[in-house]
Amino acid sequence: MSQRDYYQVLWLEKGASEDEIKKAYRKLAMKYHPDRNQGDADAEAKFKEIGEAYGTLSDSWKRQQYDMFGQSGWAAGWNPFGGGWFQAEDLGDIFSSFFGGGFSGSRWSGRKREQRGEDIEYELHIDLKTSIYGWKETIEFHKREHCSHCDGDGGSGKKTCSTCDGRGQVVQTSQSPFWVIQQTRTCPDCRWEWETFEHLCSECQWEKRMLIKKKLDIDVPAGIDEWMVIKMNGEWNEGIGTKAAGDLYIRFQVETSHKDLTRDGVDLHYDLDIDYVEAALGTKKEINIPVIWKRNISVDAGTQAESVIKISGDGVKYIDRDSKWDLLIHVHIPVPKKLSKAERELLENLAKEKKINVNSKRGVFEKIFG
Ligand SMILES: [Zn+2]
Ligand SMILES: [Zn+2]
Repeated sequence: MSQRDYYQVLWLEKGASEDEIKKAYRKLAMKYHPDRNQGDADAEAKFKEIGEAYGTLSDSWKRQQYDMFGQSGWAAGWNPFGGGWFQAEDLGDIFSSFFGGGFSGSRWSGRKREQRGEDIEYELHIDLKTSIYGWKETIEFHKREHCSHCDGDGGSGKKTCSTCDGRGQVVQTSQSPFWVIQQTRTCPDCRWEWETFEHLCSECQWEKRMLIKKKLDIDVPAGIDEWMVIKMNGEWNEGIGTKAAGDLYIRFQVETSHKDLTRDGVDLHYDLDIDYVEAALGTKKEINIPVIWKRNISVDAGTQAESVIKISGDGVKYIDRDSKWDLLIHVHIPVPKKLSKAERELLENLAKEKKINVNSKRGVFEKIFG
């Protein structure tokens, strides 16, 4: 068990709110998740430590014990000063989980607190195309499952722990000529399980769970947007002493633009250059838009620069409806920097018609780079 202060582990002040604890955990768990730090032992240790700190601070009862007595106190639910169990409101629950289902059972009949598996948030990055049309994404990750080798026991040949004599805790005494301090700590050998094994499970080494690699197909629905979350029930860690698994939350990070195509919520925006003659005379043409491919557009005669051609119902699908929003084509009309001989002649004639005094001097930029 880690000896570091749980609040320090999560970078929190002692009075942190439940929400702050959750947020801090999420952030750090994502950072140190084994999937992101393959083979990095430091990160794995950190990830465990974060999980341990969160396990305590997110449970109001455990947190209360921890705040009062530190690590040695909460693990047992034992009050080192009063010499008895805490009178917590959910006393029944505590006892049933410690004693495996009944206050009447002896303390030797079963010990473990059953613990449902942890939840996790998984950040999935998807490209613009997938976000518009939907797709199946396969993700791979490590999760903990009930050890099948020992069926979650942790070992074989149970015996009463000799270190603590089956008490689950040890008393440490330090003294000077002036004082004596007695501290009750969780037994280092049986970790408050009161029993040890002749043989530890060769697969899980008493962890009761094993880290396994898992593949999962995610149906990404068309229209998925930034920060939407899909909850996959029971797809994360299985518990300790129970197969009740935690949930996997898929949080999406979505690419919002690809080349000249940009997504803004359910609208798609595309920047299109139109020839000045096309803009003046009008045209119908087929254009190629990145990601969504071919579209036929109609440019009205006299189309102005920076105007918008709207194609209704050609944007992104609403995630919960069948309808789609709009594709907005933003028109740009660049003036040509170079003219062919024929174009020049035609334009010079047009200039005569319009009585324009032509200045054929080219801009500085064009002189150098044109
Ligand atoms: Zn095992
Ligand atoms: Zn022990």
